[in-house]
Amino acid sequence: MTLDIADLAQLDRAHIIHPYLPGSATERVVMISGSGCRLTDSQGRGYLDATGGLWLAQVGHGRTELADVAHAQMAKLEYFTSFWEFSNERAIELATRLASLAPAPLSHVYFTSGGSEGNEAAIKMARYYHHRRGESSRTWILARSKAYHGIGYGGGSATGFPLYHEGFAPMMPHVSHLTPPWPYRTELYGDQPLSPEQVTDFLIRELEERIAEIGPGNIAAMIGEPIMGVGGMLVPPADYWPRVREVLDRHGILLIFDEVVTAYGRVGEWFAAQYFGVTPDIIVTAKGITSGYVPLGALLVGDHVAEVLLRDHGFPMGYTYNGHPVATAVATANLDLIEREGLLARATGLGAFLHAELEAQLGELPVVGEIRSVGMMLAVELVRDRATRAPLPLHPERMPHDVIRRETGVIVRDSAHSLVLSPPLIMTEAEAREVASALRGVLERTEPTGEIRAA
Ligand code: PMP
Repeated sequence: MTLDIADLAQLDRAHIIHPYLPGSATERVVMISGSGCRLTDSQGRGYLDATGGLWLAQVGHGRTELADVAHAQMAKLEYFTSFWEFSNERAIELATRLASLAPAPLSHVYFTSGGSEGNEAAIKMARYYHHRRGESSRTWILARSKAYHGIGYGGGSATGFPLYHEGFAPMMPHVSHLTPPWPYRTELYGDQPLSPEQVTDFLIRELEERIAEIGPGNIAAMIGEPIMGVGGMLVPPADYWPRVREVLDRHGILLIFDEVVTAYGRVGEWFAAQYFGVTPDIIVTAKGITSGYVPLGALLVGDHVAEVLLRDHGFPMGYTYNGHPVATAVATANLDLIEREGLLARATGLGAFLHAELEAQLGELPVVGEIRSVGMMLAVELVRDRATRAPLPLHPERMPHDVIRRETGVIVRDSAHSLVLSPPLIMTEAEAREVASALRGVLERTEPTGEIRAA
């Protein structure tokens, strides 16, 4: 069946359930092709991708070398299982590579097909680890408000937005949410403005109190995104993770880093764990591991955890696509590209350039409260009033990111009251400038009421 390009939008409306799109919405943007940071839709319209798809297109679109690797592997061995004693050379090659990139002692790998599966696996691993060690009472998971850990019932329960729970209850029991680290929003921590260090003091006190309430012997793990992505690129104070790690260590609680967004160069290191100088017990990754060319996720698991999971009959859960040969082959080739093209250093350098460009073009606008970033994760916080930091009112039918896309073709995303950017790491400086100008063009017409004046 060949589809007429003119019918695509209508057929989409008739047949596809899109996440987060109301049935009443008629607009469709049907992407046809991509190259570098540029995309073209079915109408022939061009776009500049400043979100890297959903925060994952590290090496950019249209890299035919990755297509060649997938083709060769599919022709040789498209699939066999990794259950029991079965394995394949591509999965072994990637696991060995990941073990060499991850901080010691994270030298064991458990494969998934994406981030949600990864967080389910991590939460179950944490509980199972304690169970195997004779501490079956350790079932609680500590998480944070504004966290996003995917859509499974474990990770989804750890996710800290009521919106993602409403109508899906009952969620997984034994999850407790803490306050997120977000120094700009000092109201989260009481009436007084606090320094970043005082914010950490507040959060550590809360963590200690929560552990005491639940009982340390009942807690399996704390899960957290090193930098909270969906929450709005929330960058914690530098001492937050080291101090959290110290508290958890004292109580025998595992630390799971959800690095589905932050790994593989996004923050200028292979893992944000290295950026913060903290080694968790498990790192969950996905997205950038293949730059999105095929679905894959990988958990980096500490040797001390793996040793326990592998006792007796081993770890009793696996996904059909665990260690998929084509996906792991593409991942290794993708990591080769990241390395060969120096994209870790590029993320730091270009991220700083884009941040400076945003600051120069938007920094003085009345609706811009804060611009924050680490590497190529950036956010522009939108406010009604810079002095009070009150959030900009949002109008769902005319959101700034939608207007930016429709008027300029630059794709950015909204996240609560901020615009978030996570472009491909290969973006050029000229493209970065184009992104900043597109934001300026719309935000300078944005009123404190959230209305956007016509151009
Ligand atoms: N964790 C984080 C931090 C994420 O940002 C996401 C996806 N945006 C997920 C988990 C879920 O990953 P996936 O959509 O691949 O299931």
